[in-house]
Amino acid sequence: MPSPADRRAASMKWLFFILTLLFVASCGGPPGPVVRESVAMNTFVSITIYNTPFSDTETALCIDSAFAEIRRIEMMATDYSDTSEIGRINAFAGSDAQEVSKELVSLLNYSLEFGRRSQGAFNIAVGPIVKAWDFLSESPRIPSQTLLDSLLPLTNQLLVQVHEHSVFLPLPRMSLDLGAIAKGYAVDRALGVLQQSGIQDCIVDIGGNLGVLWHGTRMLDSTMATVYIRHPRREGEFLGTFRMGTGGVSTSGDYQRYFMNNGIRYHHIIDPNNGYPARDVISVTIVAPDATVADALSTLVFVLGREKGMRFVEGYPGIDALVVFETGDSLGYLMTSGMKKRFVETARHD
Ligand code: AMP
Ligand code: MG
Repeated sequence: MPSPADRRAASMKWLFFILTLLFVASCGGPPGPVVRESVAMNTFVSITIYNTPFSDTETALCIDSAFAEIRRIEMMATDYSDTSEIGRINAFAGSDAQEVSKELVSLLNYSLEFGRRSQGAFNIAVGPIVKAWDFLSESPRIPSQTLLDSLLPLTNQLLVQVHEHSVFLPLPRMSLDLGAIAKGYAVDRALGVLQQSGIQDCIVDIGGNLGVLWHGTRMLDSTMATVYIRHPRREGEFLGTFRMGTGGVSTSGDYQRYFMNNGIRYHHIIDPNNGYPARDVISVTIVAPDATVADALSTLVFVLGREKGMRFVEGYPGIDALVVFETGDSLGYLMTSGMKKRFVETARHD
C-alpha cells in the first residue's frame, strides 16, 4: 500500500504532466535541449532551454537565475509562510497594514482587476474558504454550512485595501490566496530572466502552467510546440493536443486537488458565491499571450462555467480556450474558433 505521502508525491508528479510540451520542429541539430527539474511553489518545475548560444556552464547559470527568480516570487506570494509578503498581510489581518513591495502591489491590483471584470468569480480574498476545505490535508472534510456562512463575509474582495506601498485586510481572519495566478506570474518572470540572459527558445513549466518563448512565433499561429492536455477523468491519458509558439498555457481542472465523498467530487476551485467547488465544468485550458493571464483566466472561466465563461473569453481579446464539461457518461467541449482550428482530439480515437 503506498503511504499518503507517496500518493501525494505521485499525484504531484502527475500534476506536473497536465500539460507537456514536445518540440516537433528541428531545433538546428545538436546540441539538444538542456532540461532541469526541481520542486518549488508546492509543485514540480521544469526549465528547458533549446538552441542555447552559450556553453554548458553559462547555460546552467542562466537556469540557476531563472530558478532563483521563481523562488523569489514564491517568497513574495505564497500564503504557506508567515514571513512571505502575503503571509505577513494575512497574519496582520484586522490589526495592521503591512508594507510590501511595489511588485506585489501591482500583482494584487492586477488580480483584483480580474475580480472586478468577472463580477467576483475570480477572488483572491477566497483564502478563508480554501483553508476551511483544506484540500492539501491527509483527510480533507466538507466544512459545515455554519462555518462557510461565517467565512463568506471575509471573502469580500472590495474590502481589501491596496495602497501604493502597503496592504491592509480590515477584518481578522481575512486572507489573500494567490494560488490562481502566482505560478503563471512566476513562469513569466522566469522567462523574462532567461530572455534577458540571451536565451531565445525555452519553456518554463510550473505545475502545468507553461510559458513558451520561441523567437519569431506567436501563440496558436505557430506549430513549434505540441501541448498535451490531460484527460480529466482517465488518469494517465490525454484528451488531445494542439500546437503553439510564444505564449502562456494553463489548465484548471477539478482533478488536480480533490477528494471524493459519497460519490461527489469536492475540488479546489471555489465558487465565491457559495463557498463550494464550482460545478459547471471539469477542465478549462487557456492560451494567452503570457502565462499570468493564462493562469488567472483558466481559474476565472472555470468558476464562471460554460455560458458566462465562454462569453467572457469571447470578449477578452487575444486568448483562446478549451472548456470541458460532463454530459452523462461522456465529455462535451466548447472551444474558441482559434482553438477549434488547432485542437486534435485523441481521447475518442483510442
Ligand atoms: P488554479 O489551479 O490556477 O485554477 O488555481 C486554483 C487555486 O486558486 C486554488 O487552489 C485556490 O488556492 C485558489 N482559488 C480557488 N478558488 C478561487 C477563486 N474563485 N478565485 C481565485 N482563486 C481561487
Ligand atoms: Mg489559475
